[in-house]
Amino acid sequence: MSSIIYTHTDEAPLLATYSFLPIVEAFAAKAGVEIETRDISVAARILAQFGLADDALSELGALAKTPEANIVKLPNVSASIPQLKAAIKELQEQGFAVPDYPEAPATPEEKEIRAKYDKVKGSAVNPVLREGNSDRRAPASVKNYAKAHPHTNKPFAEGSKTNVATMGAHDFFSNERSVTLAQDDTLSIVLETAAGETVVLKDGLEVLAGEIVDGTKLEVAHLHAFLRNALAEAKAQDVLFSVHLKATMMKVSDPIIFGHVVKAYFADVFAQYGDQLAAAGLSANDGLGAILSGLDALADGAEIKAAFEAALAAGPRLSYVNSDKGITNLHVPSDVIVDASMPALVRNGGRLWGVDGGEDDTLAVIPDSSYAGVYQAVIDDVKKNGPLDPATIGTVPNVGLMAQAAEEYGSHDKTFEIPAAGTVRVLSANGDVLIEHDVEAGDIWRACQAKDIPVRDWVKLAVTRARASQTPAIFWLDETRAHDAELIKKVNAYLPEHDIAGLEIKILAPALATAYTLERMRKGEDTISVTGNVLRDYNTDLFPILELGTSAKMLSVVPLIAGGGLFETGAGGSAPKHVQQLVEENYLRWDSLGEFFALVPSLEKYAEQAGAPAAQVLADTLDRATGTFLNEDRSPGRKLGTTDNRGSHFYLALYWAEELANQSEDAALAAAFKPLAETLRANEDKIAAELIAVQGKPADIGGYYRPDAAKAAAVMRPSATLNEALASF
Ligand code: NAP
Ligand code: MG
Repeated sequence: MSSIIYTHTDEAPLLATYSFLPIVEAFAAKAGVEIETRDISVAARILAQFGLADDALSELGALAKTPEANIVKLPNVSASIPQLKAAIKELQEQGFAVPDYPEAPATPEEKEIRAKYDKVKGSAVNPVLREGNSDRRAPASVKNYAKAHPHTNKPFAEGSKTNVATMGAHDFFSNERSVTLAQDDTLSIVLETAAGETVVLKDGLEVLAGEIVDGTKLEVAHLHAFLRNALAEAKAQDVLFSVHLKATMMKVSDPIIFGHVVKAYFADVFAQYGDQLAAAGLSANDGLGAILSGLDALADGAEIKAAFEAALAAGPRLSYVNSDKGITNLHVPSDVIVDASMPALVRNGGRLWGVDGGEDDTLAVIPDSSYAGVYQAVIDDVKKNGPLDPATIGTVPNVGLMAQAAEEYGSHDKTFEIPAAGTVRVLSANGDVLIEHDVEAGDIWRACQAKDIPVRDWVKLAVTRARASQTPAIFWLDETRAHDAELIKKVNAYLPEHDIAGLEIKILAPALATAYTLERMRKGEDTISVTGNVLRDYNTDLFPILELGTSAKMLSVVPLIAGGGLFETGAGGSAPKHVQQLVEENYLRWDSLGEFFALVPSLEKYAEQAGAPAAQVLADTLDRATGTFLNEDRSPGRKLGTTDNRGSHFYLALYWAEELANQSEDAALAAAFKPLAETLRANEDKIAAELIAVQGKPADIGGYYRPDAAKAAAVMRPSATLNEALASF
């Protein structure tokens, strides 16, 4: 039987679920729509590894490969090691018999435990569920709202010195080699060291005929030369030095690159004290913050700290993440995430914050040049033509390749910090060399895959979206890049499978695609960006932030290749800062628009799957209710004393009930919802007041990774009047 699976995840979206899901369940029940939940939070995934909870993620992964799938997927935590350890500790404190995280597994038992935890670590959910490509756009109601209520994109000052610095050579972009496999194969990745040793980096890598496989390296000696230049340039230009990486998604490569930036900035300190720091287990990869806080335990700690401070005073001025708290751009590898930080910089007139909280131009260092040109193109455009005006600019939906872990550059299992100089080879099962690179110790080498069926589906989705919205579609592919050249062959092979008469479909390298898209955008014209997986992630922050001021209000559909639907909620993450605010002052500023948007196509899918017209009525009325919600400006404010997440859910329920009561497609549903609509309307002020009255005091949810269900429900459902109205409905 069909049902909608609503996921329990982590942090702010999980808290929001405690308030929103009871409303959805009450509404769905009246229309006979089945809703089930599955817990795929970090905590539940840890418990599942040790047989203490159902393995919901595997279950959903299997479901995603069937036409029955109808999954509403909220953002979840991609756990870093410190987060994983914190979750383990919390579960242990709650009485669950989960083992400690083995730092250096030695025994077979420890290795097995470590392997289990590795399955929970990092980006472990999305690659399992994303059995389809990505269709993300701002719904028309959101775009219209943004046009009517534009946020400010600040102008760049005359003579702004803000620019991007990127390697352009000896990096992942330049060194890439790519092959399309003629037949199914099992590959291995092997390092032959200069000393004659053979190190198997990876084996048993199953690949299919038609699959694209790449290998590339970032040469660390050149990275250091590049960083020295960039530091000198920032100093000479007297601008802030900032580095922009994606240490969360690219969880092997980017913390290492970040560590090199820390070592380059503090070159003298590391030359003098590097051995002591290493001996104390203080790694540049963890950031300046972790090093400084670890110094207290060292005999020479004060001296080393003084050396860091002297270097900060003498070096190029650093950009700060939080000037008040003294947190620099080099403090935490995951604090500055390129896809969020660069659009924020553009919105702010090219300025970041310095040590004193003052704003200044910056040299934005994005070491690898694969996508750095996109941001330089935006900066060039805004410098020349002024800020983009949200009241008039066109929109840029995205169709992104991601199915079956396509282009998962972040995958930790195929990225390596090379231990010794030699040659890395990708070998087919019969020993043929598919890809080969000479490497030095410390170089970062990575492989990546994209299967044929997902690419073909992606081309189809691009044409479908271009046709449905009568919008030009641009494939952001660079024929001079090895991987893209292989993809372009496939795009050219698969486009003729579709009717593309009258559609504008082009292939442009990313920087050119950016310039072309911006030119159209300024004329109020829309342009679909059809991209690989990384640009999918970057563009669905960049353009929404410039157009709407946020990426949280996006419709994010994953049409599954097998015919089912995966409906992601928004383009953002799980907003940890929001949880902090809730716990401190019982205010949740999470905006559930993403959930509202996701639920509409999910209900439509249900109507089709179950042959249930009432579900279609729920979908249509929810869509209209969301329009009213936007017009009435019921999204949560940022501050205490305004409507927060819970209040926003109440208004959505009110508008949705009224739409249902007033529609004429389904008279029984209209009659059923009439009393609820009347009760909610009659008690509007009372409910709103009850929801605001609880704000301002700390809230106890009984856990972070695994909140206490009863406590979280009590905090998130504080209006007795609303609860009573739903219960008696
Ligand atoms: P983030 O969760 O998107 O948060 C960045 C900021 O975006 C938030 O602090 C908030 O700004 C704003 N934001 C995002 N969604 C919002 C919403 N629905 N309503 C209101 N504001 C919203 O990004 P992050 O801090 O880089 O990542 C946090 C966690 O989410 C990480 O564990 C990451 O791995 C995970 N993540 C998951 C997914 C996914 O599952 N699809 C995607 C991305 C990230 P203000 O604080 O200014 O209000
Ligand atoms: Mg992103």
